[in-house]
Amino acid sequence: MAPPVQEKVGRNQQLLSRRAEAVPRAPFNVAPLFADRARGSRLWDVDGNEYLDFTGGIGTLNVGHNHPRVVDAIRHQLDRFIHTSWHVVMYEPYVRLAERLNALVPVPPPARTLFFNSGAEACENSIKIARIATGRPAVVAFERGFHGRTQLAMSLTGKVHPYTAGFGPFAPEVYRLPFEPFFGRHQRTDAQAAEEAREALDRLFSYHVEPESIAGVIMEPVLGEGGFYPVHQAALKVLVEACREHGIVFIDDEVQAGFGRCGALFACQRLGVQPDIMVLAKSLAGGVPLSAVTGRAELMDAAKVGGLGGTYGGNALACAAAHAVLDIMAEERLPERAEAIGAKVMARFRDLAKHQGCVGDVRGLGAMCALEIVDPATGAPDPGRAGKVVAGARERGLLIMTASGNVIRTLMPLTISDEDLQRGLEILAAAVAAAD
Ligand code: PLP
Repeated sequence: MAPPVQEKVGRNQQLLSRRAEAVPRAPFNVAPLFADRARGSRLWDVDGNEYLDFTGGIGTLNVGHNHPRVVDAIRHQLDRFIHTSWHVVMYEPYVRLAERLNALVPVPPPARTLFFNSGAEACENSIKIARIATGRPAVVAFERGFHGRTQLAMSLTGKVHPYTAGFGPFAPEVYRLPFEPFFGRHQRTDAQAAEEAREALDRLFSYHVEPESIAGVIMEPVLGEGGFYPVHQAALKVLVEACREHGIVFIDDEVQAGFGRCGALFACQRLGVQPDIMVLAKSLAGGVPLSAVTGRAELMDAAKVGGLGGTYGGNALACAAAHAVLDIMAEERLPERAEAIGAKVMARFRDLAKHQGCVGDVRGLGAMCALEIVDPATGAPDPGRAGKVVAGARERGLLIMTASGNVIRTLMPLTISDEDLQRGLEILAAAVAAAD
């Protein structure tokens, strides 16, 4: 690992000026940097600066940048064909990938899988499937949930700024369950969480929408953009029971929490629940755009021919990459590795919380860990200070990002070496101390 980075000005600055002229400001950028190349958990910018990467392309790189097996699989497929469109001429890797996910994703068998491009697209399609299968219009999502930026996905997303403000009208028939008691910092016993979850469901069914009209509930087992809050297991169980009782499809959005990140291949396995439908994207194909909806066959088969799909969904290069990812996950035992990484990260975070006034709550599931930055005087969330931590880490050679403004989140590749992990945590600790 190179010594702490002295950011050189040069090509990054030139490209920033061109970016400002050519690209709208709306897509946010974590760092004022342009990538030159990346391998494993390291990235080099166009000025030759080296960084440890704890962002993993926003959680798309659980197997690391350019894993050689992913690169080989894509190359091999490139030599055969890039794209036929599944709708026009089918190909075996798509079918085999569906078979593999059907066997791995813990929905009650038999299962079926179909592929899309982005997390948002897969979330939208999971709702289409729940609606056509149940014949019901309503869907329920959570305060602070995030499911993407397209029309229905944005309507499901439970945060106004910056995701929905000014972008209405929104899709109708979306109802919301509260952040607490399902998520949140308040330490509840299992009995309290279960009781409050029942009350929240009673309120939903009494004052907002009758359960017989609800097609599905979509939930992230660990809120991603919403601040890395794992769901309270007892509240989750109550929710899943209510779904079963009322014939509501339980949709588990594992776009960010899935693919080994939380210490099992899928977070719901840690939480002991079986979804009816699971939505996958991000790390599924090692950085190549691919998303999937895997669900119970009777739901997945409800739509008529032509009702679901898309030109690029399950593109051949993406399927090839995903096969390599599944092999790597199993052979390198990355879900177990996530648990070991998470233990190290949480030990360091707890230590920081003890010694730094600007560190509030720390929490996590597997390697999906969060460190809240707060105002030391008031304990209030402090996004400005969190921005300083991110910038300070970058100056010292670590790329890291926030969620929900003030929450530092870890999305490092699960292939990271102990040495790089340790070094990244030291850099982060130094950046936190400097911002305290
Ligand atoms: N669902 C979750 C839980 C996510 O974290 C995201 C993206 O961060 C999405 C859906 C949307 O995915 P995409 O950005 O690929 O559309």
